[in-house]
Amino acid sequence: MKKVFFLIATILLMHTVKTHSQLQFIDDLFINYSKYKVEQIQQRRFEAKTYFQIIDSLVAAGGEMILKTKLGKSFKGFPISLYKIGNGKIKVLLWSQMHGDEATASQAILDIFNFFIQHKNCTDKECESILDQCTLLFIPLLNPDGMRKFERRNFQEIDINRDALRLQTPEGKILKQVQNDYKPDFGFNLHDQLTTYSVGKTRKPASISLLAPAFNHEKDIDDIRQRAIQMCVLIRETIQKYYPGFVARYDDEFEPRAFGDNIQAWGTSTILIESGGYFNDPEKQEVRKMNFIALMNAFNSIANRSYASLHNEEYFNIPENDKLLFHLLIKNCSVQKENHTYTIDLGINYSERLDSTRNKYIEKYEVVDLGDLSTYASYDTIDVKGLKINIGNVYPEIVTSFEKLKKIDYETLWAEGFTTLIYQGDKFFEEELNVTLRQMISTIKEPLRESQKLLGHSANFYFTDEMGIIKKVISNGQLVFEQ
Ligand SMILES: [Zn+2]
Repeated sequence: MKKVFFLIATILLMHTVKTHSQLQFIDDLFINYSKYKVEQIQQRRFEAKTYFQIIDSLVAAGGEMILKTKLGKSFKGFPISLYKIGNGKIKVLLWSQMHGDEATASQAILDIFNFFIQHKNCTDKECESILDQCTLLFIPLLNPDGMRKFERRNFQEIDINRDALRLQTPEGKILKQVQNDYKPDFGFNLHDQLTTYSVGKTRKPASISLLAPAFNHEKDIDDIRQRAIQMCVLIRETIQKYYPGFVARYDDEFEPRAFGDNIQAWGTSTILIESGGYFNDPEKQEVRKMNFIALMNAFNSIANRSYASLHNEEYFNIPENDKLLFHLLIKNCSVQKENHTYTIDLGINYSERLDSTRNKYIEKYEVVDLGDLSTYASYDTIDVKGLKINIGNVYPEIVTSFEKLKKIDYETLWAEGFTTLIYQGDKFFEEELNVTLRQMISTIKEPLRESQKLLGHSANFYFTDEMGIIKKVISNGQLVFEQ
């Protein structure tokens, strides 16, 4: 009896120790992330050249830790390489930024490289087990030509992720060749998705969406896809620990031309990770951290095979992506039209446009929906209950001198309902202007031609009370004035 009790106690203890050690591994990734984050890149737009210079210096710092192999070239001749970490039997292939404007995971890969370099001489159980059990194969930034213009497609204007069968892109050929040469056990297909996707009906941002792509229209589950499903469950659990409610499941429609679906069919358990939006995170640095934690813990779980005990139901219980999120919601606007007064909400999203005067991308906010939007949520909300909406005025004079622009009394302009000021000078020194004045400056002629229709209108409005007094001014989606 004593013996049995002792045996049970030992098993229980071993189990607790294992769990505890796994927790420590993830906690270390989360708590000490700043130690691993490669700080030279902290924005979605960066030069491919800078990126690979950083990788080269990481490879050099790592001694034998990271091995680089040249794979080939992009359509425009930019080199594409494979980076190998570890010597284990289980092969894990990861590729990022197949779509040139989806840069979040490429940044997380830098952090992963940095993590392994910092653990070069380390005897951590998890780290050793990853390096012993797995061979990690990375193709970071698969579409450097698209990346140069921050565009989805490659230089041939082909979506590489619809080229898995015809293989007309050099980038697609390279990916297919690597899959064929290495026959990886696991594949991680790393993308970015719209920041307006929500986690099902919860209306929280889908910061990460996961998919174990189907390999046929019937969406069958064989052993290969089964492992991908379990890996999605593992990744969701990992992220949920620190960001509860921010993980969704991506649409699982079979796409015969896509790489994820085909690589699944070619025998590699493939997981799609889509990086979405998060609060106060326009450059997706928090979502980058989620990628880092998720991938590192995925390697750990692949090495110790802990994913094998996870259940399929957990995967199908992950809420699917929905679109119940706006960048900005203006609630309870009172509208007066043809002697009728009624109440609407405005759903507003931004898109990024290159502003050549400022030499940078700016966010342009536009009304994309209106009516009763009470079932939606948003990153920012402005309630204008009791106030009447008016389309913002455009300052009648086009300003062409920067000196004159600097002297504009913008506070008086707001009080008079002006939301937009057109500037068409050569010089532009952003730092010399008040932050809110910057907001109302437009360097494009567009606002002049805008109609009185609210749908599609730029988010330039002022709101008045029953006395006609201006209480709030919204200029390009920002509340710039309130009284
Ligand atoms: Zn993509």
